[in-house]
Amino acid sequence: MTTRVACIGECMMELSERPDGSLLRGYGGDTLNTALYLARLGVAVDYVTALGDDPWSEEMLAAWAAEGVGTGQVRRLPGRMPGLYIIRTDGSGERSFHYWRDSAAARDLFSGPGAAGTRAALAGYDLVYASGISLSLYGEAGRAALAETCRAVRAKGGRVAFDTNYRPRGWPDKAKAQAAFRDAMAAADLIFASSEDLAWLYGREGEEEVLRHHGRCEIVLKGGGSPPSVRVLASDDDVTVQAPPVEAVVDTTAAGDSFAAAYMAARLAGRPPAEAASCGHRLAGAVIGHRGAVIPRAAMPDLPLT
Ligand code: ADP
Repeated sequence: MTTRVACIGECMMELSERPDGSLLRGYGGDTLNTALYLARLGVAVDYVTALGDDPWSEEMLAAWAAEGVGTGQVRRLPGRMPGLYIIRTDGSGERSFHYWRDSAAARDLFSGPGAAGTRAALAGYDLVYASGISLSLYGEAGRAALAETCRAVRAKGGRVAFDTNYRPRGWPDKAKAQAAFRDAMAAADLIFASSEDLAWLYGREGEEEVLRHHGRCEIVLKGGGSPPSVRVLASDDDVTVQAPPVEAVVDTTAAGDSFAAAYMAARLAGRPPAEAASCGHRLAGAVIGHRGAVIPRAAMPDLPLT
């Protein structure tokens, strides 16, 4: 039987400002990147979010479908729009991100008419993946609905994966984020944690926050260093896997998102954790060698997934 994966989150419209002030349109989102790379690696994956009924929402749907990402669980909210951000690049090449996202349709995935249908559908997946950015979208009530949905997934024998993508601006205060991340880690079967995110959130005890789940679930702890390494703690394993050096790091956008996709694809294909980490490194290594989150199909590495 095919394993079905759901990635939950938000994809926004992206406008990159060029030196003459004109704007180049694209779209982007952490969990969407993971869904897209999962699809490219042959995994049956649906992106679960809410969009509006505007032309750009239509374009996003068409683009995701063209990448093989399932769109059957995308809710369409009449009169609403996707979130938007502009990337401004200063004279020294430093990029800054500016957001219009408070009214984005994706924030209402777990509220209003239709939310019950989304929750019921999610409970039927074999693996449900969300990130810290996903958590920041929904507010207390939405997060509680998501947590309950994750319990339903697990009660049916499915698994839950959580990636600690922490973006401070998505949270009203740090305490809310700390509590939400604690709950999400406690509810997950697979945690992707970056030591940098953990340190920002919890200070020096950051790694302790995730390591307390060792033995209960699988943990992929992404460390620093160049090239970086990951420590994988699974039932019988505690291994550190170094990333191979990447000759020219062009743009690290989507490094962690693509790593998670290849790691999960390899685990779903029955590969042991250390091999899955190597697959993660190989895909992430290719992604950071190219500009943008999504690399050309021809640049996808040939991973041992069968
Ligand atoms: P993010 O901040 O997006 O979570 P990370 O910095 O944790 O990304 O990197 C994710 C993965 O990308 C690493 O585990 C590694 O596989 C790859 N990677 C990132 N930086 C480098 C680098 N300098 N050299 C080689 N691989 C890298």
